[in-house]
Amino acid sequence: MSTSMNAGMDTSGATREALTARLARTQPTVWFPAETAPSDLDPQIIDVAEARFRWFAPLLEQLFPETGRTGGVLESPVEKFPALHCALTEDVALTEDVEGAAIPPNLWVKRDDLLPISGSVKSRGGIHEVLAAAERIVSEAGLMGQDAVETFRSEPVAQLLGTHRIVVGSTGNLGLSIGLTARALGLAVTVHMSTDAKAWKKQRLREVGADVVEHAGNFTAAMAEGRQQAEADPQAHFVDDERSLDLFAGYAVAGRRLAGQLQALSMPLSAEHPLFVYLPCGVGGAPGGVTFGLKQEFGEAVRCFFVEPTHAPSVMLGRLTGRDEGIAVDEIGLDGRTLADGLAVPRPSELVGRHMGGLIDGFVTVSDESLVGMTARAHHAEGARLEPSACAGLVAASMVGQALDDDGASRPGLTRDAYDRATHIAWLTGGSMVPDAEHHAIIRNACGIRAL
Ligand SMILES: *Cc1c(COP(=O)(O)O)cnc(C)c1O
Repeated sequence: MSTSMNAGMDTSGATREALTARLARTQPTVWFPAETAPSDLDPQIIDVAEARFRWFAPLLEQLFPETGRTGGVLESPVEKFPALHCALTEDVALTEDVEGAAIPPNLWVKRDDLLPISGSVKSRGGIHEVLAAAERIVSEAGLMGQDAVETFRSEPVAQLLGTHRIVVGSTGNLGLSIGLTARALGLAVTVHMSTDAKAWKKQRLREVGADVVEHAGNFTAAMAEGRQQAEADPQAHFVDDERSLDLFAGYAVAGRRLAGQLQALSMPLSAEHPLFVYLPCGVGGAPGGVTFGLKQEFGEAVRCFFVEPTHAPSVMLGRLTGRDEGIAVDEIGLDGRTLADGLAVPRPSELVGRHMGGLIDGFVTVSDESLVGMTARAHHAEGARLEPSACAGLVAASMVGQALDDDGASRPGLTRDAYDRATHIAWLTGGSMVPDAEHHAIIRNACGIRAL
């Protein structure tokens, strides 16, 4: 089965319509947009965020002892998964998405599933946003000192922060990263969640004293209300997943840090030896920030692909139609329901679509079956505890190769030949905090879908 349309024609309305129709049928799809566009975001936001993480590191080390190994720096390793690679190469026909496709030989994984505090990529953006908000509150009160530990452990600062509240709406990992960090700093926190959000996440948040507000029914409407309340309150800070530059900047720091990690692994990157990166995508903030950071470091030598579930391809749909945050997946009849709960987002980020969408080299949609199957494979082969969302990049890597083989891309330099010479990184975005029982249920589900 061919998984892409001829991207050379993608600027014609008809072909984009055909791709949209394909999305509406929930068929796994690959799209390489022909035109590129620079971002109008200021790369200095990365320097500022990186400096902020560095300044806060000694405090994070004290508040979260699990960050002691890295001195309070939140970073994850780049590794290989040799046993998984072997298993996949032996049976690339795991699902129809990857049928006939080859697994790229030089495939690495970025272990954001192991990031401290939230066990997910949200430890980058979410925690940065909380640190930035706390810093602003303390600065405005004239209480900022030279040292993060002295400043934030002083009585007046603790009292001040206790009178401020962080408000966020999230069914998952964002709420967790924001809630745990804000509470550790002494801020009050409200996390709006849908009633069907995972019980263990609600419990974990309540344990640390976060207010968890559960919404039955229309979560989007409930969130709009929560946001209005927060915006009317001068003591409240609303975390806006669709527009926040602080979240985005936190993710972007990963690009610079990865450059150093690749150097340490003696991986030279150039037009001759490009880097292909596969990023699980929900609202687009995390993959958008990482892409922005990587493009700053590597320019054209890095190719970034956003991977979404077939039932919630919000960023791809927004880009395809040119409507970005102006369209949601229900407009093409999709229900947005997926086992990849971290990616179950009906409407894309405004920031990402409009301000850096032209940097994205390709979009891929993957079925729930392939995500869950890959979650089980990674567990069996590597003992890795991943959530289905986190496996999207692993599924997409071979689909991109297949699509470049079948149809090619009209994006300059994006060829099957470049793919074959490239280093590939599947960004694993979350899972290490998923409880045993929950993870076992995912694996059992996968075995039900297809005997392994
Ligand atoms: C949030 C999340 C993503 C994607 O991030 P967005 O900013 O929503 O695009 C990917 N994987 C996991 C596990 C996540 O929690």
